[in-house]
Amino acid sequence: MTTAPSFVYFDNAATTPLDPEVLEAMLPFLTQHYGNPSSLHGPGRQVRAAIENARKTVAHLIGAAPAEISFTSGGTEADNYAIFGSVRTLGLKRAITSLLEHHAVLHPLQALAKAGELELHYLRHNEQGTFDLAHLEELLAAGPRALVSLMQANNEIGNLNDIAAIGEICARHEAIFHTDTVQTMAHYRHDVQQLKPHFLVGSAHKFHGPKGVGFIYTRSGVQVGPLIHGGSQERNVRSGTENVAGIVGLAKAFEISIRDLAAHRAHVQGLKDRFIGKLREEIADVQFNGLSELADKSLYTVLSVSLPPSAISEMLLFNLDISKVAASGGSACTSGAQTGSHVLEALGADSDRPTVRFSMSKMNTEAEVDYAVAALAKLYQPVAVQG
Ligand code: PLP
Repeated sequence: MTTAPSFVYFDNAATTPLDPEVLEAMLPFLTQHYGNPSSLHGPGRQVRAAIENARKTVAHLIGAAPAEISFTSGGTEADNYAIFGSVRTLGLKRAITSLLEHHAVLHPLQALAKAGELELHYLRHNEQGTFDLAHLEELLAAGPRALVSLMQANNEIGNLNDIAAIGEICARHEAIFHTDTVQTMAHYRHDVQQLKPHFLVGSAHKFHGPKGVGFIYTRSGVQVGPLIHGGSQERNVRSGTENVAGIVGLAKAFEISIRDLAAHRAHVQGLKDRFIGKLREEIADVQFNGLSELADKSLYTVLSVSLPPSAISEMLLFNLDISKVAASGGSACTSGAQTGSHVLEALGADSDRPTVRFSMSKMNTEAEVDYAVAALAKLYQPVAVQG
């Protein structure tokens, strides 16, 4: 007989627990190595060396040159840097994105469009969230050089997009290609020599690193001005005294993720398969949003579950929390509602069906999957829908 875990955490797409190996690597930079990396004295130089080593590690892991990597405060800042840089430094006046992007991409683009600095186009997708690449060709052919910002994987529904194909289309039309890789970085291999994007991003807390640190890859030859002005750190890409322990932690977390990728991927995919199987057994009319159910078309870390209308729809996540299951979710906004998921809404999902997103990591177990499904099944009480 298995004992129920006291608390299960299935919100790893929001953030992951810090890996103890990462903490160990960071600690000396929170205690004995406190020099400012811009200082020219010994303690400063020692810390500078740690940052440059971290930069080399990150560069090596994605096939980039160290000079192409800049550290940021996370994925949001990295996305903003690519977008504002493309518009304000490279002078692009046109951008193509999708309504399925994270707000870290959508909001800066929409702010620029609202300010009249940008003409913004949204790529068509079908009801499962698959992009229409013929439409991308059409949009790119119809106007001057554009910024294309399309994510590699969707954080809510898990859909994986073919960024190699998107990159080829962009290259043919000489577009600047930014892809939000926050959910895939360190979970999949990236090789910028093959993909040839102009910008890629990463955020340490999505792969068992610390919060508040990320990076941007900027292809060599693309000169983009800073988003944050001041002390000219990070080769004038990003001013402000560096988050040294965070940067060291990011590089360590990235290294560990790539080192153990195959084993962790197999383990997490196994958990996802188990989730799907058990949910089907336990809950009638369970469905999966987007391509979430398909192993080769969605993140192995994310399962987006669409549940039938229920008396407790509104309180589902709250009740799961009381049952000691941490997950996230939402539903398509009903017209006029202020809250809800812009992604589910863009897919045209049924707003009466609540969604629970379970997102898994290497630290989860089969027992936790069983516990979460049992907790959901217990809570879940379908009601007869009238009419
Ligand atoms: N982009 C995507 C796809 C994300 O999932 C997230 C975080 O949830 C971000 C950007 C923002 O990253 P950060 O939390 O590091 O700012």
